[in-house]
Amino acid sequence: MSDAPPVRSILIVGGGTAGWMSATYLATQLKASGRRVTLVESKTIPTIGVGEATVPPLVGYLRLLGISEEEFMRQSHATYKLGIKFFGWQRGDDDSFWHPFGPVGGTIDGAQLFHYWLQRRRTEPDEGAYTAYSVQALLGDLEKAPRGLAASSPLHERGQYAYHLDAGAFAEFLKREAIRRGTHYIEDDVTDVALDARGFIRHVTTREHGALSADLYLDCSGFSAILAEKALGDRYIDWSDVLFCDRALAAPQPLGEAIAPYTKATALSAGWMWQIPLTQRTGNGYVFSSRFIDQDAAAREMAARLGLDAERLAPRLLRMKVGRRDQFWRANCIALGLASGFVEPLESTGIFVIQRGLALLLSYFPDTGFEPQLARRYNERMAATYEEIRDFIVLHYVLSSRADSPFWREYRALKLPDSLQDLLALYDATGLVEPPEFAMFPEPSWYSILAGHGRLPRAPHPAIGLADPEKVRHIMAYLKSENDKLARTLPSHLAFIKALNARPAPANAR
Ligand code: FAD
Repeated sequence: MSDAPPVRSILIVGGGTAGWMSATYLATQLKASGRRVTLVESKTIPTIGVGEATVPPLVGYLRLLGISEEEFMRQSHATYKLGIKFFGWQRGDDDSFWHPFGPVGGTIDGAQLFHYWLQRRRTEPDEGAYTAYSVQALLGDLEKAPRGLAASSPLHERGQYAYHLDAGAFAEFLKREAIRRGTHYIEDDVTDVALDARGFIRHVTTREHGALSADLYLDCSGFSAILAEKALGDRYIDWSDVLFCDRALAAPQPLGEAIAPYTKATALSAGWMWQIPLTQRTGNGYVFSSRFIDQDAAAREMAARLGLDAERLAPRLLRMKVGRRDQFWRANCIALGLASGFVEPLESTGIFVIQRGLALLLSYFPDTGFEPQLARRYNERMAATYEEIRDFIVLHYVLSSRADSPFWREYRALKLPDSLQDLLALYDATGLVEPPEFAMFPEPSWYSILAGHGRLPRAPHPAIGLADPEKVRHIMAYLKSENDKLARTLPSHLAFIKALNARPAPANAR
């Protein structure tokens, strides 16, 4: 490292989920070192206003920052999410499969349960789905919460679940937390960015507060990426050749009778539809490709699927820029959130990528010398994260046997990214899946999608032949009975959410 002075001040531009997650995280993690964190947010430019489903690492974010889960859930109108259930992805009829969170039975003698399941499936025709060994899938189908109101549970202790939340309420909740933890807040528009002779940001100009300067800048300005792209000229790598969906129609509806503890993802003619239950409404959205369907036809298809009159749906259109930044960290600026890239929300990864960026920022925290090796490593790891997510999402489409619309037919003929091609070649031949280093999706996630689509390897992995068959039989039966036993002790998700929100908020909650 250089002997340059430390980074003392950080300016975050943008107050969406990315901006406020960053502010809360940095105000907490850097508090002891006296760094100054400032966030400037436009009064007039709206946030994207979507981002309702999350993945399990968010549990770790809240716990790390000492945020009460109950308080967060109440204020963000959150419900539990135990995974995603996919409808109509294989054939377009009533087929369905699960991508549950958690380990799906774990391992036996070091090998994933998947291999033993596969072997058993060949001899026992009644063997069910791979995910029948997942406690999350079981609780999901029973519409149960992952914990009791007064008692925890093993999967609650291990954080093997996530949440559905109201994106606007979540950002407001984090804003209060960040300001309470010392973030300096400015409401103003950034109108210009001044660079120095090295091409580093010298200051940003605001409409009412003049020039604001810092040692390090975080670009959390959403798709407009006003620092990273507009000022520093970073290139955006477009992935629309493999991820066709570039629009979404969002249309929340009143909550029905039940609150499913999982996201529903239903394949439609030119994309898919999300259904996400919150405490006060259900979020619905059709993510589609404008190459294959226009907005009006998409709205009609979505309304029909929801059993609603298209006139009453009044959906909001969102444009999506699918791809990633070339350099997430350039000069003295790091792009986070939508400013850093976006892979469509099928596996709800947007908020996770913000979290990954923040954790890596602390791992590679610079001084004002901005040693290029730090940015290089940060950029490599963020690129790997984005590419893993891209491959995982593409997998959902290319495994489908649907051929009932031009959208699905084009996916059947898609040339896969080399990384995904390699992963599938290994899997088909050996049953092994080897996610990349620092992977977001563990092996059971890949197996759930692969097996859910009926794509099975040629034979079970030979290593499982080393295990005692009697022991394996016993463990597999035991796993199911333990899951059943746990499920019997847990309350319905609806009852849990009602009781949680009926509890008086603690006096210090604002
Ligand atoms: P934004 O919310 O757009 O915020 C940008 C901020 O920058 C705003 O405060 C704005 O006022 C400010 N700003 C912009 N320009 C200026 C300026 N000149 N001066 C000052 N301030 C400025 N993620 C998930 O994890 N799960 C999901 O289920 C999910 N679903 C999604 C569905 C869709 C259709 C889309 C498009 C995205 C989804 N995402 C999801 C992604 C998620 O919405 C984003 O990752 C997350 O909201 C972060 O957004 P952001 O803060 O980067 O940008």
